[in-house]
Amino acid sequence: MIDYDALPHPATKRIAVHITPAAERALRNHHPWVFDGAIRKQNRDGAPGDLAVVFDGKRRFLAIGLYDPDSPIRVKVLQHTHATINREWFAEKIRAAAHIRAPLTETDTNGFRLVHGENDGLPGLVVDRYADTLVMKLYSAAWLAHLRDVIPALAQVDPHKRLVLRLSRNIAAITAEYGLHDGMTVYGEPPSGPVIFRENGLRFAADVVDGHKTGFFCDQRDNRARVRDLSAGRRVLDVFAYNGGFSVYAAAGGAQAVTSLDISGPALESARANMQRNHERPEVAAANHTLITADAFDGLAQLHTDGTRFDMVIVDPPSFAKSAAEINRALHAYERLAGLALDVLEPSGLLVMASCSSRVTAEAFFDAITRHAHATGRQLHEIARTGHALDHPVGFPEGAYLKCLLAEAP
Ligand code: SAH
Repeated sequence: MIDYDALPHPATKRIAVHITPAAERALRNHHPWVFDGAIRKQNRDGAPGDLAVVFDGKRRFLAIGLYDPDSPIRVKVLQHTHATINREWFAEKIRAAAHIRAPLTETDTNGFRLVHGENDGLPGLVVDRYADTLVMKLYSAAWLAHLRDVIPALAQVDPHKRLVLRLSRNIAAITAEYGLHDGMTVYGEPPSGPVIFRENGLRFAADVVDGHKTGFFCDQRDNRARVRDLSAGRRVLDVFAYNGGFSVYAAAGGAQAVTSLDISGPALESARANMQRNHERPEVAAANHTLITADAFDGLAQLHTDGTRFDMVIVDPPSFAKSAAEINRALHAYERLAGLALDVLEPSGLLVMASCSSRVTAEAFFDAITRHAHATGRQLHEIARTGHALDHPVGFPEGAYLKCLLAEAP
């Protein structure tokens, strides 16, 4: 339960923030962030979640947003035109987000991202649906002062039985002051275990309380479907398998054998359980499923040494570049992984390489992989370069974090 009375209220008076010309240009291009360094002056200090009105050098209105004194992204823009921010305003935003996801209901999918932060006009707020459970993840303490409106708005637009709250680590201290903790059930029965949902007709479980992010990565749904379409008869290796999203699709697509590799034993245990959940499908029951607990780089090298080969290798690592300084190192890691994956790929095998590092551009990622493959004498025949599933719309440049290359290796 959340004690709404104990939560902070946004100040009744809005903060007036004046920004630099460069930041003004970004906002006119509908960028949702005002960085602390872009603020020329402001009329007063504010608390997290106070509403800030942003003005250009000529005192003209630019945007309204959430003030966040604890973050370098000092104002998170809610709207680039005048607005009254209240429960109905939040409901309208969530309604628009739900509308975008409507086509998914025709694909036997009830696990998807309902609200994708900035990209749905709600910066720092993510909501994923897993069947009747909604998982709300907060990335900024600015949302605390608005939960009493956002949560009822969510219930009104998209009825559900249970709401679980996830909190990013950077706001753990401040949220604890208000009696909130990561993984708490806001209402409904607390989950007795992982929450079961369907993706493209396949059954999965999300550990909504302890899992990464909200418990499952819905952003790869379309890429998983591609893998399913290409898996028949193949021996598939799923590197960075986590709870086996790609592995289960490969098996459902008729893969002869599926190997899931991850550094985390518990992740692989959930991959095994997800495979089991789909055993009523003859293809899944027939696929030979092997788990390898290992570091990806070491594990791939070991498979190479052992002479184990595959007809498809999927590499979907965690983000490698958390800051701009790490971009080159990340690109180097992608190249190494591609090289190691190619080493265990049979001639005419398929390589599926993904990157979720938002700081690494699609161009840089695709170039690095193809150049590296070329340099090692294996020119790739590209099948597709893909990005996000429709429940992960791209609302601003930084929102385009996911890129995936499907290619045939010679
Ligand atoms: N492919 C998954 C998502 C991967 S999330 C999906 O479709 O849902 C990233 C995974 O990489 C996590 O499960 C994490 O345990 C694993 N991981 C992180 N570092 C690793 C390493 N060095 N070697 C192998 N796995 C690693």
